[in-house]
Amino acid sequence: MNQQEKQHLLELIVNSSAKQQGDFSQTSALVCQLLQEHFDASFVSVWLLTTDTDTSEVNPNDHFVCSHKLVASQIAPSLSHTPALRKIHKLLPQFFTELRSHRYILSSEPQQQSLISQFSDYYQQHGIKTSVDVAIRINGHIEGVLSIEHCEDTIWLKSAIQFAIQCADQLALTLATRHTYDSNEQIYLLRNATEQSEHVVMLVNTDTGIVEYVNDAHEKMTGSPRNTIEHHSAKNLDIFKSNQLLYSSIISQIRNNEVVKGNLKLKRADGSDYWMSYHFSPFVTELGKHYALVSSYDNSAEYLHKAELERLAWHCNLTGLHNRSYFIPQLERAVDGTLILIDLLSFKRFNDTHGHEQGDALLIEIARRLKHFASASNAIDVARIGSDEFAILLPESEDDNPQALSDFEQVIKRLYLNLAAPSVISREKIEPKTALAVVDIKSVAGLFTPLSCADITLQHAKNKSEMHYQFFNADLLSEFTTNAEIERDLHQAIRGREFELYYQPLMDLKTNQYIGAEALIRWNHPKKGVLYPGAFIEIAEQTGMINPIGEWVLESACKQLNLWQHKDVNIAMHVNVSARQFFSGNLYEQVWRLVTRYRIKPKTLVLEITETELMGDIRYAINLCHELAELGVGLAIDDFGTGYSSMKYLKQFPISKLKIDRSFIMDISSSRESREIVSAIIAMANALNISLTAEGVETKEQEAFLSSSACHHAQGYLYSPAIRVNDFAQFIEHHATWVPVEH
Ligand code: C2E
Ligand code: MG
Ligand code: MG
Repeated sequence: MNQQEKQHLLELIVNSSAKQQGDFSQTSALVCQLLQEHFDASFVSVWLLTTDTDTSEVNPNDHFVCSHKLVASQIAPSLSHTPALRKIHKLLPQFFTELRSHRYILSSEPQQQSLISQFSDYYQQHGIKTSVDVAIRINGHIEGVLSIEHCEDTIWLKSAIQFAIQCADQLALTLATRHTYDSNEQIYLLRNATEQSEHVVMLVNTDTGIVEYVNDAHEKMTGSPRNTIEHHSAKNLDIFKSNQLLYSSIISQIRNNEVVKGNLKLKRADGSDYWMSYHFSPFVTELGKHYALVSSYDNSAEYLHKAELERLAWHCNLTGLHNRSYFIPQLERAVDGTLILIDLLSFKRFNDTHGHEQGDALLIEIARRLKHFASASNAIDVARIGSDEFAILLPESEDDNPQALSDFEQVIKRLYLNLAAPSVISREKIEPKTALAVVDIKSVAGLFTPLSCADITLQHAKNKSEMHYQFFNADLLSEFTTNAEIERDLHQAIRGREFELYYQPLMDLKTNQYIGAEALIRWNHPKKGVLYPGAFIEIAEQTGMINPIGEWVLESACKQLNLWQHKDVNIAMHVNVSARQFFSGNLYEQVWRLVTRYRIKPKTLVLEITETELMGDIRYAINLCHELAELGVGLAIDDFGTGYSSMKYLKQFPISKLKIDRSFIMDISSSRESREIVSAIIAMANALNISLTAEGVETKEQEAFLSSSACHHAQGYLYSPAIRVNDFAQFIEHHATWVPVEH
């Protein structure tokens, strides 16, 4: 083959479209075909070394494990079979060492004989006489091998070997083109992906502070055109515009090789707000340039969703105020300031009688008034912490002189009165009733929590006859502790039958005979001795324990009445019934069962209930009283004169008796006013045809006044205090003969 032919072949290879496109396998196929023809070779093949670690071979370049694959081959048409490719199985380190230093291995050269002898099996098996293996190298690295084998003895001229080397170089160039194509394509792909990314990608040169690259997502997020950002200072970015300190801090952290991330609320060019989540990471190029790789996105939707979840979690849906979960941790953190607890009184009943819609409207109105108060007094927070309970946390007042304290009392009074102001709800005028407890947080430190102190205080506020607001003080707490002990002991008292009924006689002032007995409960406390109802009835009432206690009282009194009636003792039994018991819903069944079981004669059982309690739910009370009257059970209004009964309502009750409160009787001798009140009550009872009992008669003088005013009955220490049942029997026996019951 002359020089021209070689030149022509090389041009064929160089100009082939396979070579131009960097298609290595096509170019290899072309090289194999041309060389086979022109060298009249038996086998021409191209091998590529790969870094596939599955096949373990020695890496020709640095002795790492590698493998190889046949890319193309050409067999002489006269040969019928493909040789089994010798070196494939026996790639030896020496083979590559040789190739690296000499570029090619010619099998016929004497210095290669020891190497070639290692392939002797292969040569013999396939009848190969000579071969030349040329390295395909890029930058000194062996990437593959071009192998030409002859089954006949062939003399290889230097020029022929040179030509084979030139072909191997073309193959190496093709491979390099391929690599360039590949990496260009990778860059192209990467850039495309970055451009299309919905997240903002940005490169900031940390030495110059210039944004060297930003993708389109940035403009979409911020509204700032790309050309105003790219190649401009990073200080102009939304995130740094109003916070240059953040810029310096982030850049210095990046220089310290730290990652910076966070969330910020920012403003767009058009003034709208958005939340941005950002991530800055340090990035150094191969040339040693320092960058911050910034990735950020608009997480407003995520933020708003989270904010909405938080709003739902921390707010009361109805009133828009914060809820208990939000308020309590705030209160727990407070070391000073004032806690105001506001309870909407009788809200449950309001809901039941007016319906839930009006109930909601009332809560909203109360919340509105509280919000107004809270903002006017710079409150830390105002919340709805229970169904009908609200709380306000006020900051500590800077002014601690006594005048400021009394001013503050006036503020609370005004709030109380403001909450009580009438409101029109669904065209109905409603007068909200609230109770307020005020706790100075500092003053309760080390005692109970502010909230428990407020609860204790609130109970007092509720029990007040008017102006239901109360400031916390230490006495309330010690009373609470005693009450807590009573409450604890009451449970045992119910189980341990520690209660006993005492009886106080009722005297008929006209006949001078005893016509009744009031059953009064006593508690034989194992440690404290005999306790009077004043020490425990209210607690029993508040805790609901009054129901089992009341049931026991009713049953014991009926049992005793039955015994007396057996013995023909004709007196009426008065039993006190508490409000909770009265409105418990099963008083009628209870009484019906007892009246039947103990065969109680009509009108001999009289239930006493205070007027204030009765007025709690007038409609319900009127119904129940009528039902009880039908059972033959009498109804007495206890402590009459202390409440605010309206005559209009009183007339609707089937009342058999009024009991004038002891406070009026006590003053009869000294106060003309009391005498007039008592006379007026007696006149009214006579007009309504209701029997009247004066409570707490202690002196003959009082008795004389009552007799002369035509009061029917009297009860008091003048006759006897409440006494034990056996003493009572003796007392009655001792006192003249029995007379029939009168009403
Ligand atoms: P009440 O029903 O008004 O009972 C009359 C109270 O006045 C009794 O007090 C009685 O001992 C007392 N008293 C009677 N005469 C005189 C007197 O001349 N001078 C003075 N200073 N006091 C007199 P007690 O037994 O301490 O009962 C207090 C209240 O406890 C009762 O007032 C009643 O509201 C309530 N209570 C008593 N027993 C029961 C009961 O079994 N159930 C319920 N729910 N409440 C009861
Ligand atoms: Mg009574
Ligand atoms: Mg009474």
